[in-house]
Parts: sequence; C-alpha cells; structure tokens
Amino acid sequence: MSKLSLDGFYSYCKQIAEHIQLGERMASLSGQGTPRLTSSVGNLYYDSILPYREDSQAQTREFLSRVVDVLLDFVHQVNDRNEKILEFRMPEEMNKLCDFQLHDEPLPLKQLLEDCKLALKHQVKTGHPHFFNQLSCGLDIISLAGEWLTAAANTNMFTYEIAPVFILMENVVLEKMRNMIGWRTGDSILAPGGSISNLYAFLAARHHKFPQYKEKGLSSIGGHLVMFTSDQCHYSVKSCASVCGLGTDYCICVPSDERGRMIPAELERLVKYHRDRGNVPFFVNATSGTTVLGAFDPLEEIADICQKYDMWMHVDAAWGGGLLFSKKYRHPRLTGVERADSVTWNPHKLMGTLLQCSTVHFKYEGILLNCNAMSAEYLFMTDKIYDPKYDTGDKVIQCGRHNDIFKLWLQWRGKGTSGFERHMDRLMELAEYQVRRIKEQPDKFHLILEPEMVNVSFWYLPKQLRGVPHDAQKEIKLGKVCAKLKGKMMQSGTLMVGYQPDDRRPNFYRSIISSAAVTEKDVDFMLAEMDRLGQDIIVD
Ligand SMILES: *Cc1c(COP(=O)(O)O)cnc(C)c1O
Repeated sequence: MSKLSLDGFYSYCKQIAEHIQLGERMASLSGQGTPRLTSSVGNLYYDSILPYREDSQAQTREFLSRVVDVLLDFVHQVNDRNEKILEFRMPEEMNKLCDFQLHDEPLPLKQLLEDCKLALKHQVKTGHPHFFNQLSCGLDIISLAGEWLTAAANTNMFTYEIAPVFILMENVVLEKMRNMIGWRTGDSILAPGGSISNLYAFLAARHHKFPQYKEKGLSSIGGHLVMFTSDQCHYSVKSCASVCGLGTDYCICVPSDERGRMIPAELERLVKYHRDRGNVPFFVNATSGTTVLGAFDPLEEIADICQKYDMWMHVDAAWGGGLLFSKKYRHPRLTGVERADSVTWNPHKLMGTLLQCSTVHFKYEGILLNCNAMSAEYLFMTDKIYDPKYDTGDKVIQCGRHNDIFKLWLQWRGKGTSGFERHMDRLMELAEYQVRRIKEQPDKFHLILEPEMVNVSFWYLPKQLRGVPHDAQKEIKLGKVCAKLKGKMMQSGTLMVGYQPDDRRPNFYRSIISSAAVTEKDVDFMLAEMDRLGQDIIVD
C-alpha cells in the first residue's frame, strides 16, 4: 500500500470536496427540490463575499444565483392556477412560523437563503390569476426584470450626475405621457404613490395661485382656501386639506350621482356658497376612475366651472389613467382631460407596472421647481458642467428619490404603445364578460350597477337569500354574507375578491380585473368558487 504525502492527501481531499460541491450544485441546478447552497458557500457569512473579499466572485455569484432561483420558483408558482394564492395565518401564528428576530451574531448565507424562501412562501401571490382584490396586481415579467435591474443599479434620482441614463428615460416617458394627456409642454415627476402625487398637485395649485405662500405662509392669502372633490374621491385628496393647513372641513365633498360621478351643478352651487361666505375656492379634484365604483367625473363640465370661477382643475386618474391608451375606451371617460391643470396617473395600477410607479403631470413648464425648490447648495450647484435643468431633486419635497422609471420604460419598450392599448382593451373586455356572466346567473349574483371600468360591484346570494324580494332588509343580509364569504376565501386560499360598504349601501363585492394573467376561465372560476364556498352561508 503506497503512502500518501501530506500534499497528496491535501489535493485528494480537495478533489473529494469539489466532487461533493459539484454534486450539490448539480442537484440544485437540476430543478429538483428547492434551491440550496453548496455547503462551502452556505456556511459562509456576509463578510466572506463581496464587497468584503475581492477573491469571492464565485461564492458571491453562487449565493445570488440561488436567490434568483427562489425568485424564479416564485414567478412559476404565481402563474400556476393549481397553486393557492395564499396560506392564510393569523398574525400570532405567522409570528411563530417565521423567525423575524434580529440577533447580535451574524447568520450564515444558507440561513439567509432560507429566510428568502420563507418570506415568499407566506406572501400573498398578488399576480395569481385568481387574485381580484386590488387595483395594483399582476406580475409583469418585463417590468419585473426592470425592477431587478433597478435594485442592482441602486442609484438615487436627484441628479443627472449620478443617474444620467435614468433621468433621460424619465424625460422621455413623462413627455410621452403628457402628450397622451394632450399637452405639448409641461412638467411631470414620479412620486411615491398616487396620494403623494395628489399632494404635489395641490402644492403646485396653491403656488400657482398664491406665489407668496411659499415665503409668507397661510396668513398671506387673506381668506380661507377651499377645495372641492366628489364624495367618491380617494381619501388622499381629503388628506391634502389636513396636511396643508386648510383643515378637512374645507375639503368640500360634492355629491355624486347614482353611478358615482360628481354632479357638476352641485359643484357650482357649493363653489358659489363658499365664495359668498368670503372663502377662497381655488382647487377642484375630478376623479377619473374612482377607487370603489370605477366612475369617471364629467371633465368637460367640471373644466367649465373651474374656468368660470378661476380654480385649478386637478384630475386624479391614478386608477383610470391607463385608459388614455385606448381609442375605444378613452372617450367619453377621459374626454376633456387636456383641460386640466394637473393629472395624477399611476402606471402601477391599470398598466401593470410593478409597485411603485406613480406619475403626476402639469400643464406648466417649470412649475415644480418654482413651487418646491429650496436650492440646497450641496446638491444642486449651478456651476456644474451640464445644464442643471437635468437635476430633478429640487423639484420635489423629498430629497432622495427612488428609481421608478426603468421598469416602466422597459415595459413600454417591450409592449410598445400598441401593446398597452391591447392590454387596456383586454381588461375592459374581461370586465364586460364578467358582467354578462353575472347577469346570466341572477339567482346567485346581483349586479349593483353597470360599471364604467374594470371594477365590478355585486352581491353574492347564498341559497338562503335566493328568490327573496330585493329590499333594504335583504341588502343588510347580503352585506353580512360578504364578510363571511371573504373569510372562507382567505381560509381556503383559492380566491381573493375585495368588499366594502359605501354611503349608499352596506358591504358589497368589488372585483378588479387589472392583471394580464386573467382570462375568461378565471372570471368563471371566480364566480363558481364564490358559489362553492358561499352557497350554504346563513346570516341573520
Ligand atoms: C389608488 C388611488 C390613489 C392612491 O394611490 P397610491 O399609489 O395608493 O397612493 C389615489 N387616487 C385614486 C383614484 C386611486 O385609485
């Protein structure tokens, strides 16, 4: 028997170790089971990979590759109709199931990979074809690719200096969106959500009408500012009144008609009333696509009133803005939008761009800088080698700003403008299909109103309530059914449809078709599954 030298023994061990690693890597690459790290990488800690160790390219790559495998598995599950949308757990139980604790000592990479898996395992799959619960849903693959890249680029959007490519992209996309609204010039910004976009519109309106406000404050206005919005508007409009010192009593709710659209005659009456009392009506919010009913306020008539009383007109199209792509559905819903002074439009809703992506647009060039600039000298020097107009940081009330543009730009490149148009038309067709199917089953479903958008409002009738005449008593019972049936959906994990009351009726279902994953068979599934889970519900 030959003796091994120490060197020989060492190289022999190394070969075996490499063999084991190769085997592990093969197993994890062959798609069997869940992604796993080889033991030599799994047992490493954060300070053994980049950027702490220059010679750790391979280990870093392996770690990130397995994380990507976790992501790809999730994408697969999201699109698998046999998978549940969620495994619902009560918060106490979830707390036990997941170890959320932060420790003094570091954890190895293999634990972090497990943490990644666990987080996605218990996450609601908002891109699942049976998820009808929220205005923002769906998992657009191209947009997802953009978001992954955005995270890797990890830059701040405040100066051209550090985000040259993304700043120019913003300019192109936002100009395109303004053109779709119907403006040739103007100003725009991406904001962290539609609510903040609405706040930007409010601030710009106040600055436009009362430029002295910026330095001198509220008392320089000489009258109490009043804003108007419909009683169906998004609550963020009202919050502007509170945030900006008007007080919510001075955000006047204009009554809407039975389909949820602002009544222009009521708007005019209320404007006159407040003007005659010495207040200063200055801002009207019209909603294009209300959050619950999907209603469109009549923009032309509202624009006439704004013109007559010299008020700023804002259109909150956070939800309905996407329909600007559609020749078929844009009119009459958004007719007159070009007469607005500002428009909020969330690509992360109807257009399916990944969260978060929200835009606000202004008719007036330079208004954001005029309104919001604080001229911080350490960021926005005016003697830079490029034109400082490319720095966006001083246009906003934030300092740093997240890159929300790349995922939208890439998605738009991928789809083309025509692809977005087809997407809008498809969503609307599916909602029309759902309405037809609901009407075909009047014993089981009650359509509340003809929708203008992809929000469909309806009640489900369990056996107990079928054939009973429809009256206020019955509506109360149908409202109780909503909460019970929603509970059953969550428990079974097979379907998610949202419900809420409004000021005309108790709880009712509002389904949303806003995901490219949804087809006719998913709409049929929604209705059939509600019936399967709900038919035996009894309420008193
Ligand atoms: C969703 C919505 C908002 C708020 O948008 P966030 O991005 O959630 O802040 C504002 N207005 C309307 C009409 C909406 O539907």
